[in-house]
Amino acid sequence: AKKQARGSFRFFGKGANSSVRERLVIGSALREALQKKQLYLAYQPQICALSGALCGVEALSRWHHPTLGVIPPSTFIPIAEETGQIEAIGLWSLEKSCEQITIWEQNAIYVPIVSVNMSAVHFGSLDLPEQIVCILKKYNLAPHRLTIEITESVMMRQDPETTANLTAIRNIGVGLSMDDFGTGFSSLSRLAQIPLTEIKIDRSFIEDFENNISSLVVAEAAINIGKRLGIKVVTEGVEHKEQEIKLQELGCDILQGYLYSKPLTAQDFPRWLAAFPSR
Ligand code: C2E
Ligand code: CA
Ligand code: CA
Ligand code: CA
Repeated sequence: AKKQARGSFRFFGKGANSSVRERLVIGSALREALQKKQLYLAYQPQICALSGALCGVEALSRWHHPTLGVIPPSTFIPIAEETGQIEAIGLWSLEKSCEQITIWEQNAIYVPIVSVNMSAVHFGSLDLPEQIVCILKKYNLAPHRLTIEITESVMMRQDPETTANLTAIRNIGVGLSMDDFGTGFSSLSRLAQIPLTEIKIDRSFIEDFENNISSLVVAEAAINIGKRLGIKVVTEGVEHKEQEIKLQELGCDILQGYLYSKPLTAQDFPRWLAAFPSR
């Protein structure tokens, strides 16, 4: 069955069957990847807009398959959600992230906060808060060192499990960040109901800053909503100095993007930090 799966991969991206096939192949390869430790995390720095200092990192999953090559998270995360593997990935990334900031700290590298992406699907399981507590205990980490990034699709889940999980996570003292803010179907009333500590403006709103006034209006409004709610505002996808200056002007708290660094392996991160001119 394995051989067959490998062969069928040649049809990747071609024809109407490829996406079904792709899902089957990747779904089973992913099961193996988790066991064989083919997944790893890359860490992207987050910079304090005022001081220019490092204020945290976002952990992003990476998968390098020995024969299929690099498979991006935009491909394998949705498949993991469909094939019942997203909870395993969520737990793995939580644990790895907490372990990593502990290891860095033992090497005199202090990363204040690690942010971990958590799928909306994972919020259907009532085990999540306990799993988080368990991992924090294991690495002896204060809860404020961890932030969970959720997307607006979590808001769409009106089930009691999701609501209970969000409340429980906040009660633990872990941060809760609304990722890709502005791209989903969030209603403002629901936004105020969720105990968020942070909103993260999607990079599409700053991509075209200079030419597209409506993007700028959304980014500005999002920053003001964050301020009114008394929570932190992060902007992702900062690539140019002009974007940085504008976001500083608008009062955005935290900046993240290629202007500072691409996501880095755990090994590369200390070298980047040593060379980073924190103002
Ligand atoms: P995201 O959470 O919105 O992550 C930001 C994405 O933008 C990352 O893509 C990052 O590499 C990329 N990025 C960062 N800075 C810049 C920039 O300046 N310019 C541009 N053009 N892109 C930038 P990546 O790593 O490919 O991840 C894609 C998505 O996959 C993530 O979007 C997230 O939704 C999902 N994802 C990644 N890892 C995990 C995970 O462990 N669990 C879950 N549930 N989702 C994950
Ligand atoms: Ca994210
Ligand atoms: Ca995002
Ligand atoms: Ca995004």
